[in-house]
Amino acid sequence: MIIIANWKAYVPDVARGKKLVALAKRLASTTKIKIVLAPSAPVLGLLAAGNRSRVAFAAQDISASTDGVATGESTAAAFASAGATYTIVGHSERRALGETDAVVAEKMRRALAQGLTPILCVGETQRDASAEYLTVLRTQIGTALEPLTPKERLGVIIAYEPVWAIGKTAAEAISGSDLTEMVLYIRKVLGEYLSHKAPARIPVLYGGSVDPTNVRELAAASQVDGFLVGRASVNPDSFTGLVKALHT
Ligand code: PEP
Repeated sequence: MIIIANWKAYVPDVARGKKLVALAKRLASTTKIKIVLAPSAPVLGLLAAGNRSRVAFAAQDISASTDGVATGESTAAAFASAGATYTIVGHSERRALGETDAVVAEKMRRALAQGLTPILCVGETQRDASAEYLTVLRTQIGTALEPLTPKERLGVIIAYEPVWAIGKTAAEAISGSDLTEMVLYIRKVLGEYLSHKAPARIPVLYGGSVDPTNVRELAAASQVDGFLVGRASVNPDSFTGLVKALHT
């Protein structure tokens, strides 16, 4: 099991970040759950330097560009040198600002080239009766994986995050049975880009209003390998509850 804590812009100060890192380290030392923290870029720079603990760090986003002509951007190389070993790519909050599947694909390549494990976020904005959302998902996954080499494709993590379930209450998260279907579908799509046994080796995570009250049920009902958690990951009590619920 892996938990990616997407701090989004919830943790603007380093003092609070340090407390959350200390908590994550304590939790990681008592469970087998892999914890990956994704602070904002400047906070990551201060928290992840020289990190050698079991807790890892992820960028929330990276630049699609590699040259220097990109004011305000942070490259995969900069994050790698700051101590990140993962990066979120294609989060719906970036896609909502205009990030296309082609840009996401470019970022996947940039991440892998710098040794960052990309956590590819995919998910439909809404569900329709004719299941058009499955095509959305297939396109998002396909466009991101297509340019990668077979070896690179084995180094990605998929985070299924239906946009309609993000930032809501646990009651509005996906149901266990729907999540089971989606994980199976994602592995089927992965099968088109990987050799026959490989899709089972790609971690598939779920994100969208996960908290201590629903995490266990979602984990038990489906074959997810972990969770990408936003709001509940920055509240010490919720985060502790979530990790403990998964551990027991
Ligand atoms: C997210 O934005 O990736 C997310 C999962 O957020 P939340 O847990 O707050 O729904």
